[in-house]
Amino acid sequence: MAKRPQVTRTLPALRRALEGFRDAGDKIALVPTMGALHAGHLALVREARRRARRVVVSIFVNPTQFAPHEDFSSYPRSFAADLKALREAKVHVVWAPSASVMYPEGFATRIAPEGAAKAGLEDKFRPHFFGGVATVVAKLFLQTQPNFALFGEKDYQQLCVVRQMAKDLDLPLKVIGVPTVREKDGLALSSRNAYLSTSERAAAPTLYRALKASAARIKKGEAIAAVLDDGRAEIARAGFALDYLEARQALTLAPVSSRKDGPIRLLVAAKIGKTRLIDNLAV
Ligand code: AMP
Repeated sequence: MAKRPQVTRTLPALRRALEGFRDAGDKIALVPTMGALHAGHLALVREARRRARRVVVSIFVNPTQFAPHEDFSSYPRSFAADLKALREAKVHVVWAPSASVMYPEGFATRIAPEGAAKAGLEDKFRPHFFGGVATVVAKLFLQTQPNFALFGEKDYQQLCVVRQMAKDLDLPLKVIGVPTVREKDGLALSSRNAYLSTSERAAAPTLYRALKASAARIKKGEAIAAVLDDGRAEIARAGFALDYLEARQALTLAPVSSRKDGPIRLLVAAKIGKTRLIDNLAV
C-alpha cells in the first residue's frame, strides 16, 4: 500500500511540504479538483505522475464559482473516499484549505477573464463562473507554484480560459489538457452524474451521441449551421433543456462558420431534470 498523502490545510503547512520537494530538485505537478473524485480526476493524476516526480491534488469546492441558485451546498463531498483513491494513485500532497483559508476576512481581489475564450457558451449561462474559476486557479498556482498544472478537456472552455490566463499573467508553468474519460455508453464522467435519476441517466448519453454524429457530418463537409440544428433537435427530443450546442475554433474558441475557420470543437450544455451536464468533442 502506498504511503498516505500528506494532507495540508494551511498555507504554511503546504509551503513546508513543497519546500522539501523543490530543495531536492523535484518537479511538481498540480491537479486542481473540487473532490468527489472519479476515474476522470484519476486520469489527470496519472498524467501528472508521468510529468513530475511530485503530485499535489487540491480539493476545494470553490464557493465563488457558484451562483446563489446553484448547487454549492449540495455538491457531492466525499473526502475520506477521495483520500483513499489518492493514496492508491500515489499522490504526495493533498491541499485541502477551508473557505476561510482560501478567502480570509477582507479578501477583495478578483481576476476577470476576457476575450474569445471566455465569451459566450458557459459565460452566457453562468456569468459568475469564469471569474470565480480564474481567481481560485490563480491562487492555487501561486500557492503551489507547480511546474505543470493538469485540467480535463471535459471542461474545455475552462481549460482555454486557464491557458489564456496563465499566458497573459506570465505564470511560469505549463497548463496541460487531458482527454475526457467516459462511461462505456459515452457519458462523460462527472461528479454531478450522481444527481441523475435512472431515467435521466438512461437519456444522458444523448449529448455525446449528438456531438459524435454532428462532428462526423461536419467532417464530411455538411454545413455547420444545419448540422447543429439537427443536433439541438435530437438533444431536445431526449428530454433535455438545451443551453447551447455550438461550434468554435478549437484553440481560440472564436465563433466559426465553416471548416475553413480552422480546427473545430463542438461544445454542448444542457439540463436534464435539475442536473446540468456539459460535454465537447473535436471535429
Ligand atoms: P472538478 O472536480 O469537476 O472541478 O474537476 C477537476 C478537474 O477534473 C477539471 O480539470 C476537470 O476538467 C477534470 N475532469 C472532470 N471530469 C473529467 C473527465 N470525465 N475526464 C477528464 N477530466 C475530467
